[in-house]
Amino acid sequence: MTAPQIVWLRRDLRLSDQPALCAAASQGPVIAVYVLDDDRAGDRALGGASRWWLHHSLDAMASRLAQHRSRLILRRGDAVEELCALVEETGAEAVHAIRHYEHWWVKAQDALCERVTLNLYDGNYLLPPGTVTTGSGDPYKIYTPFAKAATRQLPQRDPLDVPSLTLPDAWPDSDDLSDWNLLPTKPDWAEGFRSEWAVGENAGQDQLDEFSERVASYETDRNLPSVDGSSRLSPHLHWGEISPTQVWKALEGRSGEGLHSFRGELLWRDYTQNIICQFPEYPESGYRDQFAHFPWRDPDSDDEAAADLKAWQEGRTGYPIVDAGMRQLWHIGWMHNRVRMIAASFLIKHLLIRWTHGERWYWDTLVDADYANNGVNWQWIAGTGVDSNMFPRIMAPLSQSPKFDAAEYIREWVPELSHLGDDTIHDPGEDCRPDGYPEKRIAHKVARQRALDAYGEMKDRAG
Ligand code: FAD
Repeated sequence: MTAPQIVWLRRDLRLSDQPALCAAASQGPVIAVYVLDDDRAGDRALGGASRWWLHHSLDAMASRLAQHRSRLILRRGDAVEELCALVEETGAEAVHAIRHYEHWWVKAQDALCERVTLNLYDGNYLLPPGTVTTGSGDPYKIYTPFAKAATRQLPQRDPLDVPSLTLPDAWPDSDDLSDWNLLPTKPDWAEGFRSEWAVGENAGQDQLDEFSERVASYETDRNLPSVDGSSRLSPHLHWGEISPTQVWKALEGRSGEGLHSFRGELLWRDYTQNIICQFPEYPESGYRDQFAHFPWRDPDSDDEAAADLKAWQEGRTGYPIVDAGMRQLWHIGWMHNRVRMIAASFLIKHLLIRWTHGERWYWDTLVDADYANNGVNWQWIAGTGVDSNMFPRIMAPLSQSPKFDAAEYIREWVPELSHLGDDTIHDPGEDCRPDGYPEKRIAHKVARQRALDAYGEMKDRAG
């Protein structure tokens, strides 16, 4: 009997271009396993939207494996202990896994390789994180030089085919996915998710095929929330249902500004992971020390700030573009990138609430909630990050909304405003604001001045 090989799956739920699976399959029968380790990430446990996606992604992965007469084994508990137990139980020779870079997974990988043979592979990024370095061998901190250097190294390789899988002599026991209660019950907030998303590797490939037909218009359309202009691949990429190498390669026959700028966005994903490699807990606190002196309004101790935070979360700020974005997020677990920026900036600069509160809300509500992408982007907007916008650059939601033609988007997500014309919908004045739609939490000019004053106060305090 040939000893089986265990493939430890995490956010890499695909059969194609899966280096850990290919290596395992070349060495013996494969047992693919997913361990639900709720405690491992501490207060970075999966948010509600992520759990919803994970349920469907595991279901899809099990079906994919079944098409190859194989199975997905599910275990729940401490990942290191469960995998060691599984190695013991099955007589497996080794565990194979795609390397993950979040600090809790790095610790798990380190602990596991002390106890079993663990083979780690890169495969979830265009280039292995940490390998794009300056002439003197240091990792990049700033996006633009990082992207230039990375582009010179791409494309690195062709995507790997699905390997042929041999089956083990016996299958270990598996949990039942439905017993994990990853889906919401009461209240069932996921109706919009179900109608919006097709989950899993096949769905990710379909989405990529569909997007490759419209990549030419990406440059012009991606900033328009009313248009389906971006790829919507983010949850598929986050969960590893599709690899960035597959995405890069699939678009190779295309050319033009759309492709160029799309590849630039894919490289942002590599870049944020590169930041996490250098600063593993980057999403937890500000990179720039002076912001420790910023006079934030704290929702934990200030009732008015708490009410502002709640209004922002519920999409009831009185700023239609912000409210549309926050409601889109709640209903489908995703928000258009331009609106993610506007809404994030609004929380930080109009409401003066520290970015960490918003980052946590996105973490809980996004289906693509990603430790690196979320943390780095929030700090970019806040001006607290390693490479970031200057704090005094305050986005003006009332001008951004017409500039990016958001009228239809607002009509879709803020139905109480849907009867308003393009001239009033971005900023409904007292005479046309319908009953039930809130007044602005704070006027733009007042908020802007307050934010600039707070910034000045921070600089004085920081000395
Ligand atoms: P496209 O425009 O089609 O881009 C293609 C892919 O490139 C995306 O799927 C994504 O993987 C990557 N990408 C695009 N923009 C960025 C970016 N700015 N940073 C890193 N990668 C990028 N993206 C996440 O995947 N997870 C998050 O948790 C997340 N949080 C964010 C928080 C804030 C405050 C902001 C401003 C942005 C955040 N983003 C996050 C980045 C971006 O908004 C989403 O990746 C994008 O909207 C997803 O839609 P798409 O797949 O259609 O993107």
